[in-house]
Amino acid sequence: MGIVDPDGQILTRYMLLTPGNKTWMEIMDQIHASFIDMLKQSDIAINELKGIGIGCPGTFDSKRETISFAPNLNWKNIPIKSYFTQKFPVPIWFENDTNLSTLGVATFGEGRNSDSIIGIFIGTGIGGGLIIDKKLYTGNTGGAGEIGHMVIIENGPQCQCGNRGCLEAIASTSAIHQKIYRSYLRQYEGSGILNKFKENPNKSDAIKTAFSSGEPAAVAIINEAFYSLGIGTVSLINLVNPELIVFGGGLAESFGDIIIKSVKQTVEQRAMPGTYENVRITCTALGEDAPILGAAALVKMKLENDD
Ligand SMILES: [Zn+2]
Repeated sequence: MGIVDPDGQILTRYMLLTPGNKTWMEIMDQIHASFIDMLKQSDIAINELKGIGIGCPGTFDSKRETISFAPNLNWKNIPIKSYFTQKFPVPIWFENDTNLSTLGVATFGEGRNSDSIIGIFIGTGIGGGLIIDKKLYTGNTGGAGEIGHMVIIENGPQCQCGNRGCLEAIASTSAIHQKIYRSYLRQYEGSGILNKFKENPNKSDAIKTAFSSGEPAAVAIINEAFYSLGIGTVSLINLVNPELIVFGGGLAESFGDIIIKSVKQTVEQRAMPGTYENVRITCTALGEDAPILGAAALVKMKLENDD
């Protein structure tokens, strides 16, 4: 979380790891306590804030104002709006977290001069966001942009969402990490290479190290995942014909140009002529600031629309 001024300068940053084995209410309580702590540390009173923007995992149902489904936390129908509205005396708005990251890129990052942007964020899952004609496109009930759940392989690996073969089940950090781990377990049980991989708490970094080591099975798994990302990107380009495709999240930060080069190659081979030639494909430099800046952009946008 962070406190942001109207020009997109982040005045304070505050990081909190999602506690494991807790109910959604306990997690919200912890977020709320940290928020109060952040204000205290920054010497800012709550009513000095113009508003609060909150990024939610999974699908935020904008009609019912609940998180309808967050597969990686196994949350269903979480009444997040009523929880936070009671606690804060300032206006508050919600949006899916990677929709916010895309909005952050569009407002304060690489997409400032682009009308149509697709954001693809690779972490535990794969999230996305769509900016069409300068507006965040959220769909009928708020569920648009679930790029990680586009089906890439008809009967592919099981996904947390209940479907099979989703992009997320093939190319997310957790999917790649698990596949390399299984391969190392078969080949190198009891050896240093397996333990080093397993013990690195930063999964993106562990995957990048495996890639750089040149270990053939790991390199093949990673290349296959990046190829699937390329295939997903091809469908997105054919559908939206965007100006900019921006990658972010831990894995994109670790691999940078390697991912971009691989995706571009697949796009050039497989996208429909007339859709892809002018698309800029890049990684965002905003890093972990993207969702914070997106939350600030959401507040700004809502306040301006209210005027
Ligand atoms: Zn899925």
